[in-house]
Amino acid sequence: MLGLMQDRQLLISSLIDYAAEYHGATEIVSRTVEGPIHRYDYAAARRRSMRLANVLRDLGIGPGDRIGTLAWNGYRHFELYYAVSGSGAILHTINPRLFPDQITYIANHAEDRWLFVDLTFVELLEGIADSLDSVEGIVVMTDEAHMPETALANVHCYETLIAGAADGFDWPEFDENTASSLCYTSGTTGNPKGVLYSHRSTVLHSYAACLRDVVGLGADDCVMPVVPMFHANSWGIAYAAPMSGAKLVLPGARMDGESVHQLMYDEGVTVSAGVPTVWLMLLQYLRDNGKDLPDFKRCVIGGSAAPRSMIEAFETEYDTTVLHAWGMTEMSPLGTVGMLTPALDALPYAEQLDYKEKQGRGIYGVEMKITDDDGNELPRDGEAFGHLMVRGPWIAQSYFKGEGGAILDGDGWFDTGDVATLDDKGFMHITDRAKDVIKSGGEWISSIDLENLAVGHPGVAEAAVIGVVHPKWDERPLLVIVRAPGASVEGPELLAFMAGKIAKWWMPDDVVFVDEIPHTATGKIQKVALREMFKDHRLPTVDAAE
Ligand code: AMP
Repeated sequence: MLGLMQDRQLLISSLIDYAAEYHGATEIVSRTVEGPIHRYDYAAARRRSMRLANVLRDLGIGPGDRIGTLAWNGYRHFELYYAVSGSGAILHTINPRLFPDQITYIANHAEDRWLFVDLTFVELLEGIADSLDSVEGIVVMTDEAHMPETALANVHCYETLIAGAADGFDWPEFDENTASSLCYTSGTTGNPKGVLYSHRSTVLHSYAACLRDVVGLGADDCVMPVVPMFHANSWGIAYAAPMSGAKLVLPGARMDGESVHQLMYDEGVTVSAGVPTVWLMLLQYLRDNGKDLPDFKRCVIGGSAAPRSMIEAFETEYDTTVLHAWGMTEMSPLGTVGMLTPALDALPYAEQLDYKEKQGRGIYGVEMKITDDDGNELPRDGEAFGHLMVRGPWIAQSYFKGEGGAILDGDGWFDTGDVATLDDKGFMHITDRAKDVIKSGGEWISSIDLENLAVGHPGVAEAAVIGVVHPKWDERPLLVIVRAPGASVEGPELLAFMAGKIAKWWMPDDVVFVDEIPHTATGKIQKVALREMFKDHRLPTVDAAE
């Protein structure tokens, strides 16, 4: 027997409609690429999104057509989120930090019909325009006064198009499983692959993001996604903010500590989310300048492991609760968030940190398990580590155009490519990407644990650990360090600092110092590049073994 409830479809347009109707005067504040701070509210955002939907219709954009963006977090990008998906087309957010060849590949693979670009990326686009096969025209996201001189063909000005468009737009009703947006994974090997979100997966993911123990947004919050709107939909915040009625602050292109602090301070940001690199810069700035952020209550840190020292600094020095989160583009992206249960919250702080350092507890809607190489489930004892498998309504079932073939096993589980433990309190702890784990004498060593430990030393700005070939053990860990400004720490001091905090056989065999560690376009350490850099590195322990 079927239930007798209304079959209303979960559509992205309903989010902006809701925000305009019930939180219409709540502000959206953007730091623009042109310079000034721009302010308006949800009611105005809907009005302009509807005008933009009319623009798209006049350009001949229809259901299922892909519209690419190369843009920072700003109000025009926000309007595209709603105008494009709301009208039944697909918003393809391109990561502008990718190499131009990858951007070309992605835009062609997605068959983007139009591109919307911030002023910052016009030059980049000029360099690749000739190799874009499907693009019919370009809209520069600015006003007439700032329109650049460009050799690009069929270029339009965003504000001029909006000004010339009709008011009001009837959002179409369609199946909630319709594709809404497209985001390519940054994949360290092979070509990027497209994750095609649906209206249903996006709305369900937004509900989850709003839950109090997840990102936890309400109308009294002011949320600033530092995480870009081209990185898994700013981790869902561009949708969750209107759903909850939270004030939204969009930081534009400037991610340095001073700019981030100023905007957060001025606007009274209560919740923010981003990768550790950004928070490192902010913490450095706060400390060096004796600044604080009195309104900042919750900081979601994910994308890479949040070091213990960073969590502790936010919580003890600035009274900001850290929510260590894990997810992936394929998961919309939220999978786990590290809110403590009341029982864990009652533990001494050092023991709480042991849990906060893990990547968090499963959230409603995401099933998780860990398996060995043969697919057998491993115990949830916090010790055994294996392949992390996930299942849920906002997790990809295949990549766009079937790239990479079938990605689910017979029971519908997706292999995340991460290696993790699960414990009896429901916490998941990533020990590595499957391909980065260090295999020493048949046992696995977690490079992430070693990195987190090393960055706890005040003389270290950033640490990476890779496996280097060893004749006796197959691989042994090499610690690669970027020193903190002005620091002079040497290898032996660092190893002495780490000794006693990890199993003896996990201790790195050598330490090297570099000026910079290479990062991917989404801020992750590029282990492939590091392994290449140090492929001929001879560990001191090799001599002893020979
Ligand atoms: P992306 O799809 O670019 O968001 O990358 C997803 C991957 O980033 C995951 O599969 C993890 O390997 C890594 N990742 C995300 N969050 C964390 C975290 N909190 N700690 C460690 N790794 C993370």
